[in-house]
Formats: sequence, structure tokens, C-alpha cells
Amino acid sequence: HQTKAQVDEYLDELELLADTAGADVICRIYQEREKPDPAFFIGRGKAEQIAKIVGEEKIDVVIFDDDLSGVQIRNLEDVINCKVIDRTTLILDIFASHARTAPAKIQVELAQLEYLLPRLTGKWRHLSKQYGGIGTKGPGETQLETDRRLVKRKIAILRRKLSEIDNQRKIQRKGRRDIFRVALVGYTNAGKSTLLNALADANAYVEDKLFATLDATTRVVRLSPTRKILLTDTVGFIRKLPHHLIASFKSTLDEVVEADILIHVVDISAPNFREQIKVVEETLEELNSLDKPTILAFNKIDKLQDRSLIYSLANEYKNAVFISASRGVNIHTLKEKISQMIDDHYVEITGKVE
Ligand code: GDP
Repeated sequence: HQTKAQVDEYLDELELLADTAGADVICRIYQEREKPDPAFFIGRGKAEQIAKIVGEEKIDVVIFDDDLSGVQIRNLEDVINCKVIDRTTLILDIFASHARTAPAKIQVELAQLEYLLPRLTGKWRHLSKQYGGIGTKGPGETQLETDRRLVKRKIAILRRKLSEIDNQRKIQRKGRRDIFRVALVGYTNAGKSTLLNALADANAYVEDKLFATLDATTRVVRLSPTRKILLTDTVGFIRKLPHHLIASFKSTLDEVVEADILIHVVDISAPNFREQIKVVEETLEELNSLDKPTILAFNKIDKLQDRSLIYSLANEYKNAVFISASRGVNIHTLKEKISQMIDDHYVEITGKVE
């Protein structure tokens, strides 16, 4: 029940994701159906049609914009005769290749295994080689049961490691409590890293690809001669990221939970920016952080043809600023707004002024 324009936007985003993962997109296919087919997700006839294109164009991988079950993946691979992956697998792949620090790597592996667990179909052969050795297979266990047990054990180990890291981080953060913490949140590619650089005069990693940021980057930002804050960039939020994955990225997202103020960066030039705002707000709600003092920073105003959008959004949202992070437009206004918000929300209560 989506319009053609919506489908195009979704597939544009999927194409950008595929591009980020290093794939060249050859063609796009979509099908309108009442509901997904339990065995193939799409119709079997459609799968056969894709198989034909895959053969002709020598395609290596077919990517679905929706999540597939283990059975659907197996059936589709049998018919289409090439590798089939779904949106979440693609996203996790990108996360994996962008993870730099140990905690980020652990978070991604945990998310991958949790996603894999219900999708194990017994077709998978290399697990015991990867995680096992002698004594990995229980008596009378099928390969599938062994795989499941190994994955569960690995998940438990990774969870334990993460909670140790979390505890260490909490201790480190306690030492920084005397300075205000501000976190950048926003849909992926909204311009968070660029804004961090604009505010901090630093060189965070900026890339026109999705999820350049996985490890949280923190910088000191001077708001005025007398006031400094700590500003943290977080992982970009994205549509249709399964809920339990958010839990896997808890270490990174803790920066959001512990922040005093949030700056929600919105790409005003994205046609579907309202939907992106909603995705971010839903994610914040899951993190119990929707009620934090938040500034809405509408970014990329340099790309706007029609300025009237700015006026109507300024009426609609009371805590909005309109900026261009890459051109440095209105960055000063944003700094003043942050300062003002600290005064409004915190100074009277905690007396935390420098
Ligand atoms: P993040 O994923 O939210 O961290 O986004 P990035 O900071 O990596 O920016 C994503 C893309 O948007 C990059 O190509 C930036 O150069 C571009 N970008 C960021 N801010 C602006 C802006 O104000 N105007 C324009 N035109 N592009 C911007």
C-alpha cells in the first residue's frame, strides 16, 4: 500500500546502502502484493523472472529491502541461483566493515549472531569449524542443533564482554560529570559528523555513505569564552532496523542515554525528512530518551530551492534551528541555542555552570 514515489525513495536508500557496501546496482525490481509469500516473500513467478535476469546480467547478489526468514532465503537462493541477502544483513555488513574499536566490533558481531540465530536452517555447515573444535557436538545432536547451541554460547560470551566494557565506560564517564554532555542524533547521512566538525573545528570522519560513524566520537566544543561542552556523535538511525539490534548497539547509544541535551540533526533536503524524524523519535523512545531537552537542527539549508519551508517549520517546531553544517551557516546560532537550553533546563536545578 505504498505509493510509487515512496517505493522509489526506499529503493534509493537501499541503493545507497548497497553502494556503501561496495556493490554496483544493475537493476531494481519490485512487486505489488496483498501480503508476502511465506515461502518466497515475492511470488514464485517473480523469483523465476529474477533468476532469468541474474543469469543474463551475471549478477552476484540479490538484495531485498525487507527482512527475510531463513526458509525464504533458502528457497530464493535455490530458485534464483545466486546469493540472496536482506536489508538487515546488508546494514550489519556495513556496520561490520566500519567498526574500528573493540566494543564496536563486539556489538556488530553480537547483532549479526542474534539476527542469524532464528534463521539457521541447517544448510549452514561452517559453524562448528568457526566456533568449535573437539567437544562441540553433543550426542545425538543434529548439525542444526549444534549450530544453534554454538551461536547461543557465543552470544552469551559477547554479551558478557560488552557488559564489562559498559562498566568501564561508566566509571570513565563519572570522572567527566562536571561538564555538560550533548549528543548528536539523527537519521543516517543527515550530517552529524559534518556538524561535529563544524562545531568543534575537528576532523571527524565525513563520508557521503551511510553509517560512516559507528564508534561514538567525542569532542570538546567551546560555546562561549566561559562555557564548554562535550559533544558526541552517535550511530545514525535508520528505518526498519530490527528492535533487538538497537539493544546490541547499546554501548554506542549509551552516549545518547547519558547526554544532558540532544541535537537532532535533520536533512531538510530529503523529501521524506518527516518520516526520518519519526524513525529517530521512535528509536529515542526505545532508549527512554525522547523527553530529553532537544534542539532540532534542520541541516543542508543550502540545498533548498524554496525557503518557505524554513518559515513553516519554524512555526511548527519551537526548538528548531536552520543550518548548513558544511558551509558553516548559523552554527553560531546553534551554539547560542545550546547555551540557552543549558540555562533553561539545568542551571537552576544543578548549578552546573563553569
Ligand atoms: P552523518 O551520517 O549524519 O554523520 O552524515 P555526514 O556528516 O557524514 O554527512 C553526510 C553527507 O552530507 C556528506 O556528503 C556531507 O558532506 C553532506 N552534508 C553534510 N552537511 C551538509 C550541508 O549543510 N549541506 C550540504 N549540501 N551537504 C551536507
